Amino acid sequence: MLIERLREISGGANVLTEDADTAPFYSDWRRQYSARGLCVVRPGSTAEVSAVVALCAAEGVAIVPQGGNTSLCGGSVPTGTRREIVLSLRRMNRIRAIDPLNDTLTAEAGCVLADVQRAAEGADRLFPLSLGAEGSCQIGGNLSTNAGGVNVLRYGNARDQVLGLEVVLPDGRVWDGPRGLRKDTTGYDRKQVCLGAEGTLGVITAAVLKLYPRPSASVTAWIAVPDPRRAVELLAFLRERMGGRTSAFELISRRCLQAVMAHVPSIQDPLAGEYAWSVLAEIDDSGEQAAHAARVERVLGEAFERGLALDAAIAGSIGQGAALWRIRESIPEAQFSNVKHDISVPVSRLPEFIERAGAALEHAFPGVAVYCFGHIGDGTLHYNIGDAKLAARREEVNRVVYAAVDALGGSISAEHGVGQLKRVEIASHKDAIELELMRALKNALDPRGVMNPGKVI
Ligand code: FAD
Repeated sequence: MLIERLREISGGANVLTEDADTAPFYSDWRRQYSARGLCVVRPGSTAEVSAVVALCAAEGVAIVPQGGNTSLCGGSVPTGTRREIVLSLRRMNRIRAIDPLNDTLTAEAGCVLADVQRAAEGADRLFPLSLGAEGSCQIGGNLSTNAGGVNVLRYGNARDQVLGLEVVLPDGRVWDGPRGLRKDTTGYDRKQVCLGAEGTLGVITAAVLKLYPRPSASVTAWIAVPDPRRAVELLAFLRERMGGRTSAFELISRRCLQAVMAHVPSIQDPLAGEYAWSVLAEIDDSGEQAAHAARVERVLGEAFERGLALDAAIAGSIGQGAALWRIRESIPEAQFSNVKHDISVPVSRLPEFIERAGAALEHAFPGVAVYCFGHIGDGTLHYNIGDAKLAARREEVNRVVYAAVDALGGSISAEHGVGQLKRVEIASHKDAIELELMRALKNALDPRGVMNPGKVI
């Protein structure tokens, strides 16, 4: 009966029930979470999303919004613990408007991130959100996970790219707030409540996103640094000398580089010497390429004199720059990690975290192999453990790593969301009042508990 009524709303072809059709929607990216729902619905408009949500809410059926299904914490798939449908935003993939003078783009939630970037480029603008999954993840998913990526340093997280939202609330009503205002002092910032909520407070159907001027000059450099502390100091130095032009600054340990070279034989070490730590930096500007490159080289020269850098390879062409980025992008597939963490601490405390967590892990599990890399500019680290024996001792490993995170005022989930994976864990790391406020918000907006239950909180 429910299935029939959903078919009336979205059309028979857009309500999937056969295993062969639904399977990709019921498992997450890493196939760690799999559970069947009643069906997968693919609405094609906000009105259809609204009708689907209203129907499910009335029937007490849970709704699991799904974008590109690339998040890595089981947030976008059913839990298998109650009657659930997957609501795929895939068909809502129109760019509704671009306003170059207001520097805004209005996109439906199902637009793939790379398509949003291309649409902005077509209007000679930059949409800066950029991450490894950009060919698959969707803007609705990016906003719901407050995605980061390589350009956070200069432009901020997904949360910072939004001026307005259109959201279907848990009772099916449409909150029509996609305005392109840069200033609005009419009370609470309603949109921020839905951003990063992982689908637990409503379904984002469209967003007004900020655009920026496209840089015309860019330098990509692979820089060996003495240690993580000097890496953080180098970042501060570059920002001091180059203003806000440093758009990416990725820390990469030798073990990660070695894993990449073993996994992708065509990739070679960019430098002749063997260095324990490197950073991949990108520094962009408007104006002429040669002048910009000369300025970056001058500033890097000063960094060498100050002992902040040991050696560097500066890309001389777009192709060489892409080759350096390929190293960074190949790390996730190249490392054989058995226990993964995506943590953050204040940037200034990153070196301390690496020292503390490394020493504590070595003490608890002698000889442990740590794969450490991350967006150092936003204090985020992938801190992964490659040791098959420790897969079964995941909880013990987590205790050691999270103790270091807590001691430095960090977060145990800085990239991949909470989803099912860390729902229980976050309760021991968050302040009681903070959790109470989150629960109060959830109960106020979704009293029937139909929006993505079993995730986040
Ligand atoms: P999904 O996985 O489909 O959903 C994520 C959550 O959002 C779920 O809880 C879902 O219910 C909810 N949701 C989805 N769409 C909506 C909507 N329209 N309304 C309400 N709720 C919704 N993340 C980073 O932050 N930085 C990175 O650098 C990064 N790199 C990655 C690299 C790779 C190779 C991979 C596989 C993942 C990476 N990720 C990264 C994680 C992932 O890509 C992001 O979390 C991304 O934002 C998820 O988008 P999605 O469309 O796939 O969302």
